[in-house]
Amino acid sequence: MKPFPRAEISSKALKNNLARLREIAPGSKVMAVVKANGYGHGLLNVAHCLDSADGFGLARPEEALALREGGVKSKLILLEGFFSRVDLTTLVEHDIDTVVHNEVQLEMLESSILAKPATVWLKIDSGMHRLGFTPEQFDAVYARLEACPQVAKPINLMSHFACADEPDNPSTKLQINLFNDLIKDLPGQRSLANSAGTLYWPESQADWIRPGIGLYGVSPVIGDLGSNHGLMPAMELVSQLIAVRSHKAGEPVGYGSSWHAKQDTKLGVVAIGYGDGYPRNAPEGTPVWVNGRRVPIVGRVSMDMLTVDLGINATDQIGDDAILWGKALPVEEVAEHIGTIAYELVTKLTPRVAVCLD
Ligand code: PLP
Repeated sequence: MKPFPRAEISSKALKNNLARLREIAPGSKVMAVVKANGYGHGLLNVAHCLDSADGFGLARPEEALALREGGVKSKLILLEGFFSRVDLTTLVEHDIDTVVHNEVQLEMLESSILAKPATVWLKIDSGMHRLGFTPEQFDAVYARLEACPQVAKPINLMSHFACADEPDNPSTKLQINLFNDLIKDLPGQRSLANSAGTLYWPESQADWIRPGIGLYGVSPVIGDLGSNHGLMPAMELVSQLIAVRSHKAGEPVGYGSSWHAKQDTKLGVVAIGYGDGYPRNAPEGTPVWVNGRRVPIVGRVSMDMLTVDLGINATDQIGDDAILWGKALPVEEVAEHIGTIAYELVTKLTPRVAVCLD
């Protein structure tokens, strides 16, 4: 028997999405962003499945080392960089590129003795104001990296968008222009575009695109769907009905008795809850896919279970699948109901959910 709840991961979808992003950005290499456990899809699963990507983007040193320990030989890039000398030495030892975005990292590079020069990506703050050196700092920082024997040449250059998921927001164009002006005549590789940049701002694709969510078949843009871009959802979150109960008009269900049936109906109890990472704040009406139709959540989501209104004529049985999101029920749509983004839904699943690559 298959475990439940489980996140079924489609290798066909992952491969399709990488190929599709290559078509959309034909002149760019792909740094597949697999941080946060491959956006909840399983770090090693995704990396092995997408071994034809030109590199992988990770947030933390532990993630990059897990890939190396799992036998991944591809280029790895640490998007938040290193925070100790030990990290820096380990990265260099394992051939892991690192982003440099602050003065402490710069000083550590200048004052370390490394087995070989580190491959670095200098991060420019072109407008997100989260990580990176400002345009005013750029020339001096670049000159210091150029002069630093612990740094491999040429120095690579990157920046990150704040609002690329808002196709009408003019700030993305300003970020692109600022970045391009600063790095105009420099020899390193350039990277700006996340999934939204890749899909909506083709002029940002540069030498390397850095798609995360798009690889998993999901659109970064509210109101849009990955399928509109030829992407296929890679995750199907599946559980089961563990009870089907007749329910009388006026009766409540669940903690707080927050919902009362307007008419006689049948309720299905689905084995998934906030202990699995399904949000407790999913409101009544959030859809679940059961036997070919959307049925609404009723009552509060509890730790291990949620309830759905199957309707008075339901023939659903204990043991039937209940799909929380996937091909038939896009995670983008579920996220909108819950008032969050698909990124949060897929990355927040807890270890109790079995992640199964087909
Ligand atoms: N590049 C950087 C620096 C990031 O932090 C992220 C994710 O947050 C990405 C690329 C991928 O973004 P997305 O998942 O929106 O494609």
